[in-house]
Amino acid sequence: MKDSAGVRTVPVDAIAFLQDNVAWNRVSFCIQDGKILSCESRNDPAQFFVTPGFVNCHMHWLMLGEPTLEREIELMKNRPDEMIDIMVENARSTVLKGITACCDKGPPGLETHRIYQGLRTAKSCGLPVPKTLVSTWTISVDGAFASPLSRRVYSQNELEQVIRELHETGAGIMKIIPESGLRLAQFTYDWVFPEAYFAVAREMTARLGLILAIHAKGPESIGMGLKYSVDCIEHATEASVTQLKEMQGKGIYLSPTLEGLWCRLNYATSAGSGVATAAFEWGNATQMFRNAVVLNNGKPFTHFLFGSDAGSACTPHASLRELYLMRKLGLPAEDCLRAAMVNGARFMKLHGSIGQLTPGYCADMIFWRRNPLELDVADWEHLDQYIAAVMLDGNLIEP
Ligand SMILES: [Zn+2]
Repeated sequence: MKDSAGVRTVPVDAIAFLQDNVAWNRVSFCIQDGKILSCESRNDPAQFFVTPGFVNCHMHWLMLGEPTLEREIELMKNRPDEMIDIMVENARSTVLKGITACCDKGPPGLETHRIYQGLRTAKSCGLPVPKTLVSTWTISVDGAFASPLSRRVYSQNELEQVIRELHETGAGIMKIIPESGLRLAQFTYDWVFPEAYFAVAREMTARLGLILAIHAKGPESIGMGLKYSVDCIEHATEASVTQLKEMQGKGIYLSPTLEGLWCRLNYATSAGSGVATAAFEWGNATQMFRNAVVLNNGKPFTHFLFGSDAGSACTPHASLRELYLMRKLGLPAEDCLRAAMVNGARFMKLHGSIGQLTPGYCADMIFWRRNPLELDVADWEHLDQYIAAVMLDGNLIEP
């Protein structure tokens, strides 16, 4: 790589996502002011393969992987400065794994402004922080999963006010938790969010340009997400084949959060508590995912996202295990990359600036020692070992 007059020339073998497949092209990128200026063909072999950065579409900066939400809140309230330091370090190590953009699916609790501010300050000081779409609060009602840690609404007027506040606080996304946690006796989740509120949320978010995502594990919540054409269904652990087909037909994205569920199961097993719930959810998630992988006559569901649930119970931020689990459960490598790059960019409505390596786009790149498409499933368990360097907005981030 050479720098001249602020222009950096990068000769690589770069991935391009085409309509039906992916291609590798020998190119030289010119990079200036954090953007790809141009992309010329070349002939000689390059040292590195390059892809766009990964987009983690379901994560929580304000959660640090404590096993329970209550411990998370305690940390936030009692040790806020320490929390900011840990979060800034998480952001740096996340970038080093190639994750250059994230969608934060809502913080626990309400005293979070200061903590988001810490992340913005780190970025303005030049520290590596992934581009992040935030949801400011998670919205729920009494009886919903994690409702004590969400912003609960009690009337339609209040809901409308919260959506206006989301918009004013710079959120790009609204995340609703409309169902209860697992009721173990019946193995069911209850839809607890009034349907009239849900209709209002869909109408207002569409009008204000906010993305609408719902936490939905049970069939009823997934059905409601389909009825109102939300933008993304999180988890979808009990989605039937029919529901998956309808999601795809409506262009609704799916964050399977396999890593989060896998980490929960591991923790439950080692702690000897909560095993039944964790095993039930993991079993459903893997079955749903395997169905989705062959949904279209053996070809996969088209709207997968990379969403690991980083920050939730025992789930690390700087990890690519979600992608390994997606591959291990049958998704081909190129579809994993598509989910983690172009699909994530489209979901976040940033497909004009990230997710592809095209002139005018952000210079967010992963430099690979080997072509990730040629690595087998076992190699994907340690995918980060093949990452030589990461570029964020044109700056090389060194380990
Ligand atoms: Zn989550």
